[in-house]
Amino acid sequence: MEFSILAESFNKMEATRKRLELTQFLVELFEKTPHDVISKIVYLIQGKLRPDFEGIELGVAEKLAIRAISKSSGIPIKKIEDEYRKSGDLGHASSIILEQKTQTTFLVEDITVERVYETLFKIAKLGGSRSQDMKMKYISSLLNDATPLEASFILKILLGTLRLGIAENTVMDALAIAFSGTKENRKKLQYAYNVSSDLGKVAETIATKGLDGIEKFEIILFNPIRPMLADRVKSEGEAIEKMGDEFAAEYKLDGERVQLHIEGDKVALFSRSLENIESYYPDIIEKIPKNIQADNIILEAEAVAINENTGEFLPFQELMHRRRKYKIEKAVTEYPITVNFFDILYCNGKSCVELSYKERREKLEKHVKQDEFAKYIPMSIVKNENEIEDFMENSINAGSEGLMLKMLDKPYQAGSRGSHWLKLKREYRNELGDSLDLVVIGGFFGKGRRTGNYGTLLLATYDEDEDTFPSICKVGTGFSDESLDQLYQILHPKVSIKKNPRIISEMEADVWFEPELVIEIVASEITLSPIHKAAKDVIRKDAGLALRFPKFTGKIRVEKAVEDASTNEEVITLYKGQKKIAHEKNLM
Ligand code: AMP
Repeated sequence: MEFSILAESFNKMEATRKRLELTQFLVELFEKTPHDVISKIVYLIQGKLRPDFEGIELGVAEKLAIRAISKSSGIPIKKIEDEYRKSGDLGHASSIILEQKTQTTFLVEDITVERVYETLFKIAKLGGSRSQDMKMKYISSLLNDATPLEASFILKILLGTLRLGIAENTVMDALAIAFSGTKENRKKLQYAYNVSSDLGKVAETIATKGLDGIEKFEIILFNPIRPMLADRVKSEGEAIEKMGDEFAAEYKLDGERVQLHIEGDKVALFSRSLENIESYYPDIIEKIPKNIQADNIILEAEAVAINENTGEFLPFQELMHRRRKYKIEKAVTEYPITVNFFDILYCNGKSCVELSYKERREKLEKHVKQDEFAKYIPMSIVKNENEIEDFMENSINAGSEGLMLKMLDKPYQAGSRGSHWLKLKREYRNELGDSLDLVVIGGFFGKGRRTGNYGTLLLATYDEDEDTFPSICKVGTGFSDESLDQLYQILHPKVSIKKNPRIISEMEADVWFEPELVIEIVASEITLSPIHKAAKDVIRKDAGLALRFPKFTGKIRVEKAVEDASTNEEVITLYKGQKKIAHEKNLM
């Protein structure tokens, strides 16, 4: 397939933010795409080469790209840098520069999507000392044959600055329309995506095998399954109302969610946001296969830091010490953990997600052996408020956050947040001592002791309907010097020149970040706001919701994907709950 078709399509997509229009452009593109390249196109649309969990990163530095542009065009580096400074986007600058190209190439081959993809793949795989020269060779050979428009998109993909603002849901809408005639079939695609986390594979399946293939889609060992999530409840009474007469209560441990795929000695570990996290947990890789009594298995567990002397659970923050590239062995002995299993999703070649909670728990206990390192998460079947309270007490005393409540007869719903699982945290009982998980979207430079850091951050909720991040508050308190440094290290590489179209805010932040990081916030109250955009127009026309006196709790939730942040719905519920409490107090 000619790369020019893709470049022209990207060009149109970049010019709009409207979801309907983007969907239409995608449908047109998919209809022109041969089936054997559709997966590649889907990854490229998302600015990737493969699904995230494979961890393939392009990692080309701007300097190298500038040298490659200069090499293939004959235009001096200084001139390219000047143009880049003017436009703020190297892809765009390169298209202007290449219009003025002085060096002519005699034999210009049409470039194809396949060629661009293969070359980018080779670049991503290159490592070692000689890799820079090789990368440059590959890039300039592509640029030699590219038109200015094509070159600009090749560079954007290479530099990771292609930001079409297309959400996964929009891609699935377009696939459903293009290959089944109606958006209604999106749900079927969604299932396939939820159990494979691989949108390219989903696209290829519907394109080559139609809906039939999608309906037969199966879990693939070593492809992560998108996690099931829980709604929150504020009290035991509310839980009983929602869960019925009898349900399971499990400790809600404050660690890192780990999805384990095991076959023999081969182990893969995925985080909640489906990153590959094997390197942080060599102890899990080494020890857990011995506990498995099955040919192959997919399990979910919470890895929790423990105090080795008392066996007490320690907070999530302790695990942050394991997120390092070097000396991981030292971190493993200094910050010991236990692995606490709570679900089984696949066993001996068969999916378990359709089984009820009760059946899954039995299966889990049958196929996983416990020992000092591997445990089942403590669970009790509860029937009334007293029993929940007692179990909550035990859970808090053991050092965990609260309880997860799970319906006994329900299946595992991959990739969705629903009322079959509820979380009840101790802290929710305070009026708005509730913590929220918010997305960092912007930053303001600090003054005084905070010079050189982001002293204040702009935060957003997740709007599930629109798939956007509307602002809800600025936060400047609760930061220690250490956390400010840590946040700077994480956020600095996420700075983007253009505000990502999924960010909804009219504030003038000093810098905009790609919405990729979640942090935990407490606040005293939720108020109506003319400035912030969370749940805009829902409670009152032209007003959004904002947090009053927000404070950072110290928890950087690196394990969370931004789509797992607190949603508009959750904030609206909290706002209404707060009104109710105020009303009840006035009546007293
Ligand atoms: P939250 O991060 O507050 O939305 O809570 C959901 C997270 O709690 C999950 O992603 C898990 O990492 C964690 N968790 C702790 N204990 C359990 C449990 N028993 N069942 C499911 N998830 C748990």
